[in-house]
Amino acid sequence: MPLVTLAEVLKDADAKGYAVGAFNCNNMEIVQAIINAAEAEGAPVIIQASQGAIKYAGLEYITALVRAAAAGTPVPVVLHLDHGTDFNQVLRCLRAGFTSVMIDGSKYPLEENIALTRRVAEIAHAMGASVEGELGRIGGTEDHISVSEREATMTDPEEARRFVAETGVDALAIAIGTAHGRYKGTPKLDFDRLAAIDRLIPTPIVLHGSSGVPDADIRRAVELGVRKINIDTDIRIAFVEAARQALAANPDEIDPRKVLGPAREAAAGIIRHKMQVFGCAGRLHISPRG
Ligand SMILES: [Zn+2]
Repeated sequence: MPLVTLAEVLKDADAKGYAVGAFNCNNMEIVQAIINAAEAEGAPVIIQASQGAIKYAGLEYITALVRAAAAGTPVPVVLHLDHGTDFNQVLRCLRAGFTSVMIDGSKYPLEENIALTRRVAEIAHAMGASVEGELGRIGGTEDHISVSEREATMTDPEEARRFVAETGVDALAIAIGTAHGRYKGTPKLDFDRLAAIDRLIPTPIVLHGSSGVPDADIRRAVELGVRKINIDTDIRIAFVEAARQALAANPDEIDPRKVLGPAREAAAGIIRHKMQVFGCAGRLHISPRG
């Protein structure tokens, strides 16, 4: 089926109380892994590309890959820009056919973030696409900052209420203690803050940096209103570990398919598990292909 918007898939998720997985891609094998997992689990899915992924693969390639994947599946697929920071880059993605974009103005003061996000939301909505904004700073696991410093970067519930009311975003990424990358310990999520934000805003909530967060914490976050969950690092780990194992098992291998095929399968495996935890598995009544 043709690509659908983020607002469309999140509407059903919000009505039924589950989260849709948003999985990062940067090559054909990962796009296929995401689609294979979504078909096997009967789940709607968000395929997202970061600016780095677009730089690596090319905007035309990413768009064509995901369009082809969507056209050949009964599963609803959203093509989303992850962490757009540049206004013109966001426009290029919308023109290329992305059905959803994130504009990350979180590094700016509140007023500037609102102005930038509202401008993007107006354009995206006029083009029939959805918009995700970010409030609070979701750092990296490599950022060596203290617990109190991390807390200062978390999303303020009252500011979140104002942000969604004034920008018109379709989804809001919040900072409640997760970070991008591979965690050294176990992240501590501020569930009280999440609950407070969910009480104040009608907009679906997005959780970034969700790789490595224990399944029980993810389930609790979904219960408290998270409707889109981003996974990148866990896919990278599964993909590269499997490729490494395939090479180690046969160091003389020269067929890329023998290395990337197992990597694709490993990625699909971890994505299927995430879909079950998020609650989006089994939401579509399609006949599974395997
Ligand atoms: Zn993120």
